Amino acid sequence: MTTTEHNQADQAKAELKAELKALALAARAELSDADAAQALAWTARTFGREWIVAANMQDAVLIDLAVRAAPEVDVLFLQTGYHFAETIGTRDAVATVYPQVRIVNAQANHSVAEQDLHEGPRLYERDPDRCCFLRKVVPLRETLAGYRAWVTGVRRVDAPTRANTPIVDWDEGNGLVKVNPIAAWTDEEFNDYLTEHGILENPLVAEGYPSIGCAPCTAKPLPGADPRSGRWAGLAKTECGLHGGGDK
Ligand code: SF4
Repeated sequence: MTTTEHNQADQAKAELKAELKALALAARAELSDADAAQALAWTARTFGREWIVAANMQDAVLIDLAVRAAPEVDVLFLQTGYHFAETIGTRDAVATVYPQVRIVNAQANHSVAEQDLHEGPRLYERDPDRCCFLRKVVPLRETLAGYRAWVTGVRRVDAPTRANTPIVDWDEGNGLVKVNPIAAWTDEEFNDYLTEHGILENPLVAEGYPSIGCAPCTAKPLPGADPRSGRWAGLAKTECGLHGGGDK
């Protein structure tokens, strides 16, 4: 590619980013009270096939909602190499229950064995921020580069850092529109949807894990404790950095 072609490509990218940002900020106001179905219908209408649903395979609530708007939607799973067998099993069950969706397994550039070789074993103990950066943040960013919007299951009740999550937002870090269709849902609304629609759920939830991440960084919270207290238990870390400070 010549220098002129490079400059033209950079300019086209910058123009697309500015266009998406303006769209996100307008939708943030217009859809501030939208319900999940309305938010997802807008996403499908606006972005065609160029959007993806992030799923941590704790349950299939968000996927079930998304396929109602777009039956062949893409579903993003961050395959960190550190998941519980039950989480991988839930991903595979999703593929069976929703055969029309396309599951995109986003992987780090290095396997766990290669990471151990380069960074030393158990990086998650010594420097979990770096481990999350290598195994979650980078693969997410690389995968999202092929889309114009992504959909997450972030809810305002998850954590104080998520209390002001809008339904539609601009994701400056990844340079695309971010849609949070169930941001306003309470735990009761979430559980009602799960029960009423018989939604697939990771079996670890029934075993006492209300917030499931990678196996080395997920413990059962103590009775009555914050549901997310089992994530990176004993460390100051509470988020992966996927949501400008958050990860489902
Ligand atoms: S949650 Fe733990 S194991 Fe998973 S990427 Fe982050 S630090 Fe590594």
